[in-house]
Amino acid sequence: MAYRWPAGTTCKRIALAVEDRSCPVCDRALHVGDHRYHALWTFEGPTQVVNRLVRCPDPSCQSRGRTFSPEAACSISMPRWGIGWDVLCGLGHRRLARHGSVPQLRLALQDTHQIAWSDDAIAHSIGVYQTLLAARQQDPDRLAEAYRDIESLVLTIDGLQPEKGHETLYVVRELKSKRVWFAEPLLSSAEPEVRRLIVLARQWAERLAKPVRAWMSDKQDAFVKAIATEFPGIPHRYCQNHFVRDLAKPVLDMDSQAKVTMRSKVRGLRAIERRVLAERRQAAAPESPPPPAAPQGAARSTAAPPASATPAQAATPAPYASSAGGVLHTDSAPEATSLATAEEPEIEDEAGEVVLGYCAAVRGILNHSQGGPLHPPGLRMSEALQDVRDSLDRNLGAKKGGRPSRC
Ligand SMILES: [Zn+2]
Repeated sequence: MAYRWPAGTTCKRIALAVEDRSCPVCDRALHVGDHRYHALWTFEGPTQVVNRLVRCPDPSCQSRGRTFSPEAACSISMPRWGIGWDVLCGLGHRRLARHGSVPQLRLALQDTHQIAWSDDAIAHSIGVYQTLLAARQQDPDRLAEAYRDIESLVLTIDGLQPEKGHETLYVVRELKSKRVWFAEPLLSSAEPEVRRLIVLARQWAERLAKPVRAWMSDKQDAFVKAIATEFPGIPHRYCQNHFVRDLAKPVLDMDSQAKVTMRSKVRGLRAIERRVLAERRQAAAPESPPPPAAPQGAARSTAAPPASATPAQAATPAPYASSAGGVLHTDSAPEATSLATAEEPEIEDEAGEVVLGYCAAVRGILNHSQGGPLHPPGLRMSEALQDVRDSLDRNLGAKKGGRPSRC
């Protein structure tokens, strides 16, 4: 469907002409016969490209009836596209290098460049960009150039599932130049399916005319059989990451158990955040008298959110007790409280900000589950929680000296 431009759009005009104005057949000067108009979005804004189309004026010339259009048009965009190369490449880069979602890209186009482009159109553009990128990555000449100084190849294959419920994506990589060669989603991991990819890898290696020194995989049956058939005599090693993961399985199980325990001990973040927000609302209402109660003041001024919130948390059973993985402790509420009243109007928002900042940090730590056999996630969680605890202690130490400190 044709793009509907907003009413009253004014376009920047770019006029293009054919570079060589003489007829390629009879060498006479070509005449402008017609114009082709192409409106599109570029980072410069709405743009109208005016192409001057030329023809040979000689009725007897063999080129008669042929129209020549400006070569430069393709450097702005492909024919009939609604966006220029600059916008397409900008979208592709933000999507692939910075992992921006389609709605984020739409807002970025709208806010930064005033380009009104729909989610569908953006998704389609990203598809086009990926096709161009794959063609460039797999271009035989470029590949040959990349492998010019590499003596031999080490190939790997693995099945990945980027999105749950989708078919597995089988990826063939070459380790010497750290390149993904190709990837294909397969409905089954049966040997004939997998073998097709191994055959393709063999053809790539043959085209590069480089010997394959080894294969590496998690050694599922289909891989082992297909590689043994297509690459007879080539060593097939077990992938180190899979190997270590299997070896570390008992430790990872314990690590995962420790994570559950830590999560169950560090709780009540939402209650703290709700309190800060409720107090802000109260402070914003001009008629309400300043609340004199100690816990309120403490929550406002202290940089130790959990400590200050503890009195109000009586209903929750011991949520902030000190523990192996715990961050928080209860014994410093009095100091924090005593500082509260003096500097109330200036600091109140700032303190709330600090409290919310701590809450966000702790939530991030609890939700983080990255890591592998060499960096177990539970261990990382424990270290991060300890960092938060140290930070709280430092802030409380500064408070004791009477100098309000910011995190
Ligand atoms: Zn001619």
